[in-house]
Amino acid sequence: MVDSAAHQPDSSPDNSALDPLANVQNQDLAEVLAEVENVSPSPALELPLLAAGGLIKNFGGIRAVDHASIEVAPGSITGLIGPNGAGKTTLFNLLSSFIRPDQGRVLFDGEPIQHLQPYQIAQRGMVRTFQVARVLSRLSVLENMLLAAQQQTGEKFWSAWFLPKQIAKEEKELRERAMAILQSVGLAHMAHEYAGALSGGQRKLLEMARALMTRPKLILLDEPAAGVNPTLINQICDHIVNWNKEGMTFLIIEHNMDVIMSLCDRVWVLAEGRNLAVGTPGEIQTNPQVLEAYLGQ
Ligand code: ATP
Repeated sequence: MVDSAAHQPDSSPDNSALDPLANVQNQDLAEVLAEVENVSPSPALELPLLAAGGLIKNFGGIRAVDHASIEVAPGSITGLIGPNGAGKTTLFNLLSSFIRPDQGRVLFDGEPIQHLQPYQIAQRGMVRTFQVARVLSRLSVLENMLLAAQQQTGEKFWSAWFLPKQIAKEEKELRERAMAILQSVGLAHMAHEYAGALSGGQRKLLEMARALMTRPKLILLDEPAAGVNPTLINQICDHIVNWNKEGMTFLIIEHNMDVIMSLCDRVWVLAEGRNLAVGTPGEIQTNPQVLEAYLGQ
């Protein structure tokens, strides 16, 4: 069991009767939550939006993720940190099904998802961004946004013939939504420029803006502040806080500790593919095991 800096579990029998997880009917969820509890014995107050238990991923002889577990509470901004090579990106790839686990389970909204394709997971409401923003450079900023919208009527062959008015209406609404989001992140003036003309930081903003087009419940952000100038980092943080206030949940990998400390409700620490600690940012900052893992690099 790893060190949990968060509040300790209360062993009183009365409390367990009040535990909302005590009567979880879903067998998959109950088993994954038991794995999470091994790592983080602090009592959860609600069912997690995302939960993963006992994840293992080997690359040849390298075990990148080693029995790792994590949970993300709905409405939270949850952090995932760890020294270089700790397995954070591999864990993200497992959570979002970009790679398959050798062992372990991932549940989103109570349902197992590790067998699904990333686009199917996006349709259920979980999207991700990448360490190096993946935008389509030869398309305009606006076109990048419009491509993210899912399941439009016009995508179905016969609908294009029979429902032209509905398609035109949907397209207009999509454009308006795309422009409103671009406006909110300060990219509206670049809407008709090639995405390739954006700076690294602006590409990260575009990736996040594009993720919002799908109206997700959860966004996984892989190093949103990496390679971004300090002014834009502050703007990105402000956007994350605002979107969170509007109800969006985030899981964020980040090396910039100021960003993690200012944004996150709860932080999970990985080292050598394993869970090392979990707690509030303040608790993690003073956790001796975490300090040792970083200083020992
Ligand atoms: P960083 O903070 O430096 O981005 P990380 O915590 O995200 O690191 P990962 O990128 O997940 O760590 O890598 C964990 C380990 O798995 C490392 O030893 C890495 O070299 C190895 N690894 C990751 N992906 C692969 C791969 N596709 N093939 C082989 N080894 C890999």
